[in-house]
Amino acid sequence: MESKLIIYNTMSRKKELFEPLNAPFVGMYVCGPTVYGDAHLGHARPAITFDLVFRYLTYLGYKVRYVRNITDVGHLVNDADEGEDKIQKKARLEQLEPMEVVQFYTNRFHKNMEQLNTLSPSIEPHASGHIIEQQALVQKIIDNGFAYESDGSIYFDVNAYNKKYSYGKLSGRKVEELFANTRQLDGQSEKRNPADFALWKKAAPEHIMHWPSPWSEGFPGWHLECSCMSQKYLGDTFDIHGGGLDLQFPHHECEIAQSTAAYGHEAVKYWMHNNMVTVNGQKMGKSLGNFITLDQLFNGGAEILEQPYSPMTVRFFILQAHYRSPLDFSNEALKASEKGYERLMAAVEALKKIKVSSTNTVNVKELSDKCFEALNDDLNTPILISHLFDGVRIINSVVAGTEKIDAENLAALTKLYNDLVFDVLGLLPLTESGGSEHEALDKVIGMVADIRAEAKRNKDWATADKIRDELKGAGILLKDTKDGYEWSLEQ
Ligand code: ZN
Repeated sequence: MESKLIIYNTMSRKKELFEPLNAPFVGMYVCGPTVYGDAHLGHARPAITFDLVFRYLTYLGYKVRYVRNITDVGHLVNDADEGEDKIQKKARLEQLEPMEVVQFYTNRFHKNMEQLNTLSPSIEPHASGHIIEQQALVQKIIDNGFAYESDGSIYFDVNAYNKKYSYGKLSGRKVEELFANTRQLDGQSEKRNPADFALWKKAAPEHIMHWPSPWSEGFPGWHLECSCMSQKYLGDTFDIHGGGLDLQFPHHECEIAQSTAAYGHEAVKYWMHNNMVTVNGQKMGKSLGNFITLDQLFNGGAEILEQPYSPMTVRFFILQAHYRSPLDFSNEALKASEKGYERLMAAVEALKKIKVSSTNTVNVKELSDKCFEALNDDLNTPILISHLFDGVRIINSVVAGTEKIDAENLAALTKLYNDLVFDVLGLLPLTESGGSEHEALDKVIGMVADIRAEAKRNKDWATADKIRDELKGAGILLKDTKDGYEWSLEQ
């Protein structure tokens, strides 16, 4: 398989030709959510970015094994390996079993992911289901001399590691600076060096989630699960590791150190990171009052939102930016995306009604080449979408009769749009998007149906029939049922 796909490798800091280790098989690991709260705007971006990677590689003919984990243990409130487990904290506040919290938010995450039309990963492993494997990895790292025990906890020895390998190479941080910047840790610390990180933590007496180990009754450090589960399911070395830019340090840096310390070599060929989402130019955060969950986004239920935005509007909005560029959320930008998405879908619909001509003035080949050139250039979706809009103008000209298209070119154009818009970009047609337009229409029809019911109660059959007929004239079929009414769009 000849690949023309170029992707930017965060590790080498340059664009590289994508050549899988074992084509046509591709292994891709993406860091998934810690399931202690609703998915928010920040979760949508990596989900859609790596869904695009998954879809495009599959479209190119690769057999992709896409692994995305669920973090359900070991992610502490504080990055310095201290504080409560995020899931346990939620469970305590809600008086639930930790695994109830995990199940509840995993289900909600899946629902949001389905709304955004992201494909399910091939494997979705839970950290808590891989305790034995994680302990084996800890032991390997201890045996190789890169970890030490301190009061029942095991810490990764960054200093020892850095003497042989290079800690910080992904994020470009210098160990000396890391040591200097984190020096002010109190003298009570169990760590030899503040940059060291936990592989295994001894559980405090009040800690609910803990497992027996050779070192203590405890739980794994957060970074460990990804080293462990990626290599378990994708092999010692695999093709792509993805995640948000916020995970680059310390999470991915620690993963690299763990895998290298255990196996003597790095595990990942291409590191890919999506950039962050800001809200009106600010970092999103609960304390800043600009935190938007996906449910709120879809139903308009947050103060900052001027209206609800359909999942497909959100998906289109995210794809309109290159995944490595920052993306700023604003009502204006989302409204513009809503219009753009509708315009694109209207053109795809219009394609179905185009009448072929015996002559042809449309260059589909050129359009197609430009689209794939953009995709192959590190998945440049904003450029791809701008080419698709050039195509929209062509489609509209054909509809208007100022351009002509023959049967062969119409078939090619239709295939191009179906492939790119639906299969690769993963958008859904307007009618299936369950969008805000549909909701607005539903409200209007509800109002009209109430007026009609009132007319019927007053035995004003003429008005009742007129309303039904006028709706039908507008393509809306209103049907009486025993509970009230049902409506549908005329096919
Ligand atoms: Zn991870």
